[in-house]
Amino acid sequence: MKEKLRKIPSVHELQQNQLFQQAAEQIGEEKVVTSWLRNEVDLLRQAFLENIGPDVHTTEEIKTYLLERLKYKSEYFQEDRLQRVINATGTILHTNLGRANMSEAAVKKVAMAARSYTNLEYEITSGQRGSRHSILEDLIKECTGAEAAMVVNNNAAAVYLVLKGLTEGKEVIVSRGQLVEIGGSFRVSSIMEESGASLVEVGTTNKTHPHDYKEAVNEQTAMIMKVHTSNFKTIGFTAEVPLKELVNIAKENEDLIVYEDLGSGALYDFKNHGIGGEPTVSEALNDGADLVTFSGDKLLGGPQAGIIAGKKKWINHLKKHQLARVLRVDKMTLAALEETLKAYLQGEEGVYTIPTAERVLETKQSIKQRAEAFTDLIHLSEWQTFIEEDVSKVGGGTMPEVTLPTAVVHLHSGNTPAQVVIDKLRTETKPAVVARIKEEKVVFDFRTITEEESKIIAGALQTIEKEMQSLS
Ligand SMILES: *Cc1c(COP(=O)(O)O)cnc(C)c1O
Repeated sequence: MKEKLRKIPSVHELQQNQLFQQAAEQIGEEKVVTSWLRNEVDLLRQAFLENIGPDVHTTEEIKTYLLERLKYKSEYFQEDRLQRVINATGTILHTNLGRANMSEAAVKKVAMAARSYTNLEYEITSGQRGSRHSILEDLIKECTGAEAAMVVNNNAAAVYLVLKGLTEGKEVIVSRGQLVEIGGSFRVSSIMEESGASLVEVGTTNKTHPHDYKEAVNEQTAMIMKVHTSNFKTIGFTAEVPLKELVNIAKENEDLIVYEDLGSGALYDFKNHGIGGEPTVSEALNDGADLVTFSGDKLLGGPQAGIIAGKKKWINHLKKHQLARVLRVDKMTLAALEETLKAYLQGEEGVYTIPTAERVLETKQSIKQRAEAFTDLIHLSEWQTFIEEDVSKVGGGTMPEVTLPTAVVHLHSGNTPAQVVIDKLRTETKPAVVARIKEEKVVFDFRTITEEESKIIAGALQTIEKEMQSLS
């Protein structure tokens, strides 16, 4: 044992090796790499002492082993953590894949904001301190018709700020049919509890009537809250009180706030294209909501953000709240959001520059052209590809009932199970390709695959087929 321990080279000796030098150069900090090396030497010594060591015996073997470990570690620390991924699922706002892709204009603006000083909290005309909460206010007002607006970190934060800032210690009436959980971590009831407001549930899961609300109002009531049930739909024997009617009920009681958490908050009316029944932000405000909140990175197609829009009286109050500081957004978010909002002001043409909107609106015929270009391009020897019709989902808990007709490609991979192909596409292809399996075939939905990405997928499949053939 002692003899084996003596064969472990010293850290100093290992440092002379070329592999150490390479690792140190890559990482750029010799001290860090030396500490990793020291750690590996200690681990090996310990392993030898416990007689569980790796199968290395000669000095040369031990040396190679330690340097290989070091190489592995330095490569591991240089790997990309946040990586680009090709979304072949067709789900446009894939929550696990980071929801919305930004427009080119937004990307450019983010780069500018990241690189430079900006007037984030500075009024250029007066040279005075400005407010980041107000910097996009005019734009949001223009896009929604709201009297006032502010931006926070995400919609969950927006909901929290509204409840905490305006209803703490008071009662908030919500229909039982709207007590939703979104994305497994956002529950209206829990966020309400956190905010210190008391939830007053009315109605039943499937039906809530105006009188349910009327009977629940008392001196403690501060708000009637409506939650857009983004990610599920009740069908059959159901009744919901329309926003307009809630507004009427509130009018009978001075200073009762009517607030709708819209979730997605479309600025563009997809209903005009026969897609979904999502109320636009303007519609909710027109119907008389005092406040609405919605996400920046759902149907809006911008960065992660939460937008609060509505009556100036309430917004001003929220801007001054301590929590507004806690929930504030950074300059890059505002940069991306600004360009996204401006695109909506440019009308139809602008809307098509926003990838999320463009993908929701793209027709099956147009998607099919990309799928055909892909099947023409790919050269497989035995595997085959077939274009099929299918449907894509919007995703992100948005428009759950909507199915968008699409063109997909099914891969018939011979003796190779679809699961093997899909695993290789994910773990061995750069960027990783995320696809799905249907009836033992790998499915690629071209709604979310660009022309450039088609080529990457084609190349990857050709490589995987060759590899599988060489194994058999
Ligand atoms: C998605 C959603 C939220 C949470 O929004 P985030 O931007 O993900 O924080 C809150 N309420 C509703 C109704 C939603 O659909």
